[in-house]
Amino acid sequence: MLIKNGNVIIFENDDVKVKKLDIRINGDTIEEIEEKLDEKTGEKVIDATDKVVMPGLINTHAHIAMSIFRGTFEGCDLYTWLNEKIWPMEAKLTEEQVYDATMLSILEMLSTGTTCVNDHYFFSKQIRKALEESKMRAVITRVLMDNDGKEASENRINEFVDLYESRDRNNDLITYTVSPHGLYTCSGEVLTKSRELALKYNLPIHVHFLESINEIESIKELHGDTGANVLKKYFDGLHIILAHGVKISDEDIKVLKTLDCGIAHCPISNLRLGCKIADTTKYLDEGLNVALGTDGQGSGNNLDMFEAMKIAGLIQGGIHENEKRINAKDVIKMATINGAKLLGLENKTGSIEVGKKADIIIVDISDELDNVKMLPNVDIVSNLVYNADGKNVDTTIVNGQVLMENRNVKVIDTNKVVKK
Ligand SMILES: [Zn+2]
Repeated sequence: MLIKNGNVIIFENDDVKVKKLDIRINGDTIEEIEEKLDEKTGEKVIDATDKVVMPGLINTHAHIAMSIFRGTFEGCDLYTWLNEKIWPMEAKLTEEQVYDATMLSILEMLSTGTTCVNDHYFFSKQIRKALEESKMRAVITRVLMDNDGKEASENRINEFVDLYESRDRNNDLITYTVSPHGLYTCSGEVLTKSRELALKYNLPIHVHFLESINEIESIKELHGDTGANVLKKYFDGLHIILAHGVKISDEDIKVLKTLDCGIAHCPISNLRLGCKIADTTKYLDEGLNVALGTDGQGSGNNLDMFEAMKIAGLIQGGIHENEKRINAKDVIKMATINGAKLLGLENKTGSIEVGKKADIIIVDISDELDNVKMLPNVDIVSNLVYNADGKNVDTTIVNGQVLMENRNVKVIDTNKVVKK
């Protein structure tokens, strides 16, 4: 397949550049990137004139079956939302509902330019089934916790082991994490078990971390230490994906810098649950990796990573007054290459480079009424972050396969999923 005449987003050193380039994809891999490539006979050609060709967006923290809770429970804080609203509802979910809700989310992701998602949920075989059918890239798990007793906790551990052991070893698109829910919902016993599983299977840890102010106190009560020290105690030497990280102190940063970890920043969910604003400018300055996520739709409203990019960029102005803060280029990297690094997938995805898997989206920026908020288009990167939205994504390619073209999702029966 040949993608011709596009404005291609390329990362050079630490910079983000836009260049007119042609891209040849052979099977699942990016084979050539040149200023001009000649069409080979029989090759599929996508004309990307007046379009942006960029790495597929990577959503580093989500609960994709939570599309079923979209628009519910407005105005709660995190603890009320979880304890009184979400957990009682989740206890009643069926496997079929999780499958259907996951399919709806996959449609949402593919049609808004997300090519890889890091999920954190349960009934995970249903989630995996939907992901396998849709051919998108994903990292999945079975969440562990024991704040409701030992038996429930052991069931969860068994379900995780069963999920992982029953994986399709030939499926390169789906990988796994070990995921204790949070340091405030997991005793030392579950965290130790998580460490053992991560070591046994060589998997990263994916955990909610310092999302809200209450969590600092809860972790102290349960573990007698700060969140960062608890992480160090149980997960030192492992690769750790920290969801949220809103309440990270300067002392915590010193500890986090000694660990192999990074942050999945979920700005919209944080704002909706009144968790305030993660200082991603500071975290990046300190050398921590910061990527982007939406969280589930119950708190994050939707999975449109363009919205997440816009808010992630803008809210830094809410905590940094007249100071240097992250810019549109930083945000583009957070949504792509930083996400790949956070998920341990940087050799496969996250940028348009020869040898990487072809996870690519094409965004329409042509001079049309639909794109009027991007005109005159003098700065493509700034427009992608602040003025584009998921609906501008025209084509979504994962692992060299075109999953959406001209806004038609090919791998899913769109009408059936929407109606269901
Ligand atoms: Zn979450």
